[in-house]
Amino acid sequence: MAPGTPHSSVPSRPDRSTSAHQDARIDDLLAEGPTLSLEFFPPKTDRGVANLLDTVDELEDLNPDFVSVTYGAGGSTRDRTRDLVVSANADRNYPVMAHLTCVGHTRSELAELLEDYAASGVRNILALAGDPPADGSPAGGDFTYATELVELIREVGDFSVGVAAHPETHPRSPDRASDRRHLADKLEVADFAITQFFFSASDYFEMVDELTALGVTTPIVPGVIPVTNPVSVARFADLAKAHRPHELWARYESVADDEAALMEVAVEAAANLAEELLAGGAPGVHLYALNRAEAPLGVGARLGWRIRPAVEATDG
Ligand code: FAD
Repeated sequence: MAPGTPHSSVPSRPDRSTSAHQDARIDDLLAEGPTLSLEFFPPKTDRGVANLLDTVDELEDLNPDFVSVTYGAGGSTRDRTRDLVVSANADRNYPVMAHLTCVGHTRSELAELLEDYAASGVRNILALAGDPPADGSPAGGDFTYATELVELIREVGDFSVGVAAHPETHPRSPDRASDRRHLADKLEVADFAITQFFFSASDYFEMVDELTALGVTTPIVPGVIPVTNPVSVARFADLAKAHRPHELWARYESVADDEAALMEVAVEAAANLAEELLAGGAPGVHLYALNRAEAPLGVGARLGWRIRPAVEATDG
């Protein structure tokens, strides 16, 4: 399919390409129609930041509805996340959402950062628990669960608050029923959720059905990862206890040494999954961009959601 050709089963996306909307709340954007969003992580060096900003420029072609920036466990990227979110939110036409984890932080540290975000015009926060230290030492801090952070965010400012959802259940959940119960309680106080990545649309739809049965109506945006690096995504997936379908992974492994072929398979698989999710009623797609432009651009084109189609190169 040619880039920019809408796929028949994919709903169209509101065209926000001509208006700046960095002040928008993500819950309002979701209420207007399906969203396309992108997730980045804060690079460690100034050069890395410059490269990321080039990537973000390339991705303007997708006209994202919002983007988000991750936060290192225990605050390890606190200043880098903050600086990137505040500057990009001021520079770009769309909102930039700050991820924030609460484990290991005091209430006053979190409140101070939230006040700074509010004063800087950042209106969207993804509230996360974060992971306890890998060595088993006590995390410290005033909070244990993401729901407590959502409550603090509500006290500090008028933010649109997202939370994480795990279609295949959170790896620390002792069983599926308690996972869904705690997630339903969290979604009751949040405005929207974004999921951990997964590879079978049925995992997402089963979670949504189970939450609907518990009375949840909060929009849940599926997170989709283009698998451009099968080795590292496999490591993440195994840590997150995300099931990797054998046939799909055999395809990635068969092209692992051919960069162009791998990109093609990664884009095709992510676009197929996104298409199935959107056709089934998902309120948007959140792409784990891994700070690279090519795969998200390819997925956007396959969905017909690349609002400014690529100009084909010509030989003179
Ligand atoms: P919670 O919702 O608090 O849940 C954690 C566990 O506690 C679950 O098993 C839940 O069932 C259980 N639980 C919840 N409430 C209770 C209760 N009252 N009593 C008993 N058990 C309870 N990590 C980062 O460090 N930085 C990031 O930027 C980041 N971004 C992410 C973005 C997305 C979209 C996703 C899906 C995850 C992200 N994470 C990030 C990972 C996340 O921090 C970890 O998965 C973490 O272990 C749990 O966070 P949570 O917000 O889901 O926790």
